[in-house]
Parts: sequence; C-alpha cells; structure tokens
Amino acid sequence: MKEERDFELIGGHPALDLVNTLDWRFRSGGQEELLATYAGLLAFVAQEHLLSPRHARELGRNTSPGAGEAALAECRELREALADAIYAQLDGRRPAGATLRTLERFFHNAREKQRLLWDGHHFRWEWQGLETAPRIPALLLANAASELLLSNNMQKVRACDNPECRWLFLDTSRNRTRRWCDMKVCGNRMKARRFKAQHRN
Ligand SMILES: [Zn+2]
Repeated sequence: MKEERDFELIGGHPALDLVNTLDWRFRSGGQEELLATYAGLLAFVAQEHLLSPRHARELGRNTSPGAGEAALAECRELREALADAIYAQLDGRRPAGATLRTLERFFHNAREKQRLLWDGHHFRWEWQGLETAPRIPALLLANAASELLLSNNMQKVRACDNPECRWLFLDTSRNRTRRWCDMKVCGNRMKARRFKAQHRN
C-alpha cells in the first residue's frame, strides 16, 4: 500500500471525521479532497480503529483497482449524504428527502449484512464473510454513522466557527464552549484575521 498521510481525527466520532475528509467544504476558493484513493480510505478506517492495520493491509493487497474505485465512490456518497443531513440540522433546515433515502439505504444495507451471535459471554454483530469484501469500509462507516445519527450525541455536534472550514466535532467540553476544529489551525487564523480587521485603519 502506498504511504498515506495521517488524517486529523478531531471529530470525536468516525462519522464526523468522515464528513471532514472533504476539507475546506465551504471555501469559495475550492474544496480539498482528502479521501483521494482506496488506499487512503483504508488508512482512514484503520486510523479510526474500525479495521485493524493488518486487515487494512490485506484489503489493500487483494482489491482490484476497479473494486477499490467503486468502494471509494460508495464511501464518498455516504459522506455527502451525512454532510447534507448534519449541516441541515446545525443550520435549522430540513434535510432533503433524497438525503434521508440515501442514508436509509446505507443503514439498512449495513445492518442486513450482519448476523447476531452469542460468543458465550457477549452478544455481538458479525459480518458474514464480508471482512474480505472491498466495500467493508462503507458498511463499517454506515453502521457507525447510524449509531451517531440516532443517538443523543447529535445534540453535541458542532461545526468549527471558521465559515470556510466548518469541520464537525462532538463538543464534549463541560460548558459546550468549543469553537474550533483545532485552535492551532482555525482558532489562530480567525483571531489573526480579526486582529487585522481591527487594526486596518
Ligand atoms: Zn476549522
């Protein structure tokens, strides 16, 4: 697998980090695609601990370029539906009907591929032989996303205050006062911009 740079996982949840992989989503100068290759997608899912590094390496070795492209496109489709739904909620809008249907399809599809097992100590969901399927990242991400969307944690989802960034994160600060994806990235940049505006004259 070719080397991929690390993802900045500041979202506190895989579904939010996934939305953030389209960087500078609201920048007039253009967006930046961080999920550019299937190898990158595998690195992302492994960094989220949804796949083990070994499992990700095996998928990277055994997946044909065509299957990898299709799996990547599927994850981007899920990402854009999630972005649409979550930013709609944050902005007080209704998510589009098509967005809801897309998410519903992903969530159903992921759940119906699983079997409920009892391992002698715990109940758990197991993927029926799909661990080696190139599209397992989309199933894992869809499951994670459905857990978040239907949980009370949705009340804690915030967007970075930089209007060109708006990276998503779970605000777990005590007083719900977190404003930035990363103080070093957007916090300082926005402060500098305000400082310039105040001192322009
Ligand atoms: Zn930001």
